Amino acid sequence: LKTGLRKTHTQIVHGLDEFFISKQDKATREEALETLFELLVQADVGVKTSEYLVDKVKSRIQKEDYSDAKIFKNILREEIFNILTATRENPKGTLENPLQSLADKKLPHVVVIVGVNGVGKTTTTGKLAFKSHLRGQKVVIGAADTFRAAAVEQLAVWAQRSKADMIRLKEGSDPASVAFETVKKASENNASICLIDTAGRLQNRQDLMQELAKIGRVIAKENPDAPHEVLLVLDATTGQNALQQARVFKEVVNITGLVLTKLDGTAKGGIAIAIAAELGVPIRYIGVGESVEDLEVFEAHEFVNALFS
Ligand code: GDP
Repeated sequence: LKTGLRKTHTQIVHGLDEFFISKQDKATREEALETLFELLVQADVGVKTSEYLVDKVKSRIQKEDYSDAKIFKNILREEIFNILTATRENPKGTLENPLQSLADKKLPHVVVIVGVNGVGKTTTTGKLAFKSHLRGQKVVIGAADTFRAAAVEQLAVWAQRSKADMIRLKEGSDPASVAFETVKKASENNASICLIDTAGRLQNRQDLMQELAKIGRVIAKENPDAPHEVLLVLDATTGQNALQQARVFKEVVNITGLVLTKLDGTAKGGIAIAIAAELGVPIRYIGVGESVEDLEVFEAHEFVNALFS
C-alpha cells in the first residue's frame, strides 16, 4: 500500500513538508491553510471535502502552532481517518468473512460487481476469485457482461487460475440469465462465493438501471438474501470523474461497497477521501497493480499510515 500511495503521499504530505521548511517555522495561519487546501485539491480530494478538512484543521489548531508541521499533519491525519471510518457498514456482512458472517444463512455469498468499462472490473473480479481460491473457497463466476466478448475471454483466464467455474452464455444474451444461472450453479455445487461481473455502459442510465434491477430480482428468486454485496469499481486515476460515476451508480443501485483501482501510479489517491466523505459507502478493496496479488483489503489506518509515513 505504501508504494501504491507514493505519488499521493508526495502530493499532499511532501508538499506540506516543503511548505513548512520554506517558511522556516514562521508560517502564518492563512498561508498554511491555503497551502493545505491547494495540495488537497490537486490530490483530487475535491473542493467540498478539502474545504471541510481545512475547516476541521482550523478549528483544532492553536494559532501559535501553525508553524509546527508535526502538529498540523497529525491533526490532518486524524481528520482524514475520521472521514474514512465514518462510512456505514453492510448489514449482510463482508466478502472477507462470508462464511463467518453468514453462518446461519444460505450460501453462496453473492457479489455483484458493477462499474463503467475500463475501470478494472474484470481484473477485480478475477483478483477476488483468486483471493477466495487461496482461502480454500469454491467460487463460481458469472460473465454477465454479455456485450464484450473480449471481457468474457479475459474473465475465463482468471477463472481458470482460480479453479472457478464460470457461467457464460452466448454473446448478447440477457445478463440477468447469466446471473441466475451463476447463482443456481453455485447453490448446486455448494460454492461459497459467487462473483457476477456486469456490463458497464453508462450512456443510458435508464437501461443500466433496468438491467441491474433485473439482475437483482432474478438473483433474489434463487436466494432471497442475495445479492449480499454490490461492489462498485472506480478508477482512481480518473479523479473527480470517479466521484461522478459513483453518484450515478448510487442512484440506480444499492451499492454496499467500493473498490478503488489503479491507486498505484497516481497522485489522485485523495479521491478515496472525497468518495468516502461524500457517499458514505465504505471502500472495501483497493487495486494497486495489475497482477493477481495487487488487490488489498482497504483498512483506513493502513491508508493513513501509508499516506503520512
Ligand atoms: P473493465 O473494462 O472494467 O473490466 O476493466 P479491466 O479489468 O479490463 O481493466 C482495464 C485495464 O486496467 C487493464 O489493463 C488492467 O490490467 C488494468 N487494471 C485494473 N486494475 C488495476 C490496478 O489496480 N492497477 C493498475 N495499474 N492497473 C489496473
